[in-house]
Amino acid sequence: MAKLVNKVAVITGGSGAIGAATARLFLNEGARVVLVDIDGEALERVASELDSPDVSYVTADVSKAADVQEYVEHTVKTFGKIDVFFNNAGIEGVVKPVTEYPEEAFDKLISINVKGVWLGLKYVLPEMNDGGSIINTSSVAGLAGFESMSAYVASKHAVIGITRTVALETAGRGIRVNTVHPSPVDNRMMRSLEDGYAPGEGATVKKGFEASIPMKRYATNDDIAKGVLFLASDDSKFITGSKLVVDGGMTMH
Ligand code: NAD
Repeated sequence: MAKLVNKVAVITGGSGAIGAATARLFLNEGARVVLVDIDGEALERVASELDSPDVSYVTADVSKAADVQEYVEHTVKTFGKIDVFFNNAGIEGVVKPVTEYPEEAFDKLISINVKGVWLGLKYVLPEMNDGGSIINTSSVAGLAGFESMSAYVASKHAVIGITRTVALETAGRGIRVNTVHPSPVDNRMMRSLEDGYAPGEGATVKKGFEASIPMKRYATNDDIAKGVLFLASDDSKFITGSKLVVDGGMTMH
C-alpha cells in the first residue's frame, strides 16, 4: 500500500539533493508535490526529470515572508490544502573559526536556516489539514559541535527548539512536528564543506569524516529521504516533537 495517497506535500530546498530525492520517493508513494527553491533553473530541471502531472514548483526565497506566503497560496490553488511539509531548505555557510566568521555570513545563514524554517511554519500551518506532518531538517550539527561551523551549528540546534515548541502548539490538531538529523550526505553541500576545511584536499577531509562514523560511510540522499517518508506517513502517527537521527551511528557516543 502506498503511504502518501491523496496527500499534498510541500518540499523546500526542493531542487537540492535531499529535497529532490524525497520528492521522487513521495511521488512513488502517491503524493502530489510542490517543490520550492530559490534556484529557478534547478527547479525546472528537477521538475522535468520527475516528469509527473503531480509535481508543481515555485521559485521562492524561504527567508522572505512574501515569498513564503506565495508558495503556500500556490500550493492551495494547485493541489488544495497541505498534508505534509518538508521544511528543508538550508545553506552550509562558510567554514571559519568564530573569530574570523563574517557577521554578514552569520546573518544570512540564520535568516535562511532559522527564520526560513520559522516562516514556513507560520504560513503553512493555517493551510494544513488536521492530522498533517511537518519535518524540519536539522543535522548531526543540531546534536553536537563542529569546529569552524558556529553559525550552521547554532541554526541546526535552533531548529530543534522551534520544532519542540510548534509540536506543542499543534498537537491538539493532530499535526505532528519532528526533526530529521542527517550525518554528512554524499552530495554538493558536503563537497563545499570539505573544500572549506581544506581547499583542494576535500577527499582527505571526507576520509576523516567517514572514519568518525561507525558505519564508515556518508549517507545517501535516499537514506535521508526514507527517514523523511517515515515521519511524513502514518507509520509515525504517535511520534511528535521527536528527532530522527539518520547518521550511521555518528552521534551515538
Ligand atoms: P543542497 O544544497 O543540495 O540543497 C539545499 C537547497 O536549498 C538548494 O537547492 C538551495 O538552492 C536551496 N536554498 C538555499 N537557500 C534558499 C532560500 N533562501 N530559499 C529557498 N531555497 C533555498 O543540500 P542538501 O544536502 O540537499 O541540504 C538539504 C538540507 O539538509 C539542508 O537544510 C542542510 O542543511 C541539511 N543537511 C545536509 C547535510 C549534507 O551533508 N548535505 C547534512 C545534514 C543536514
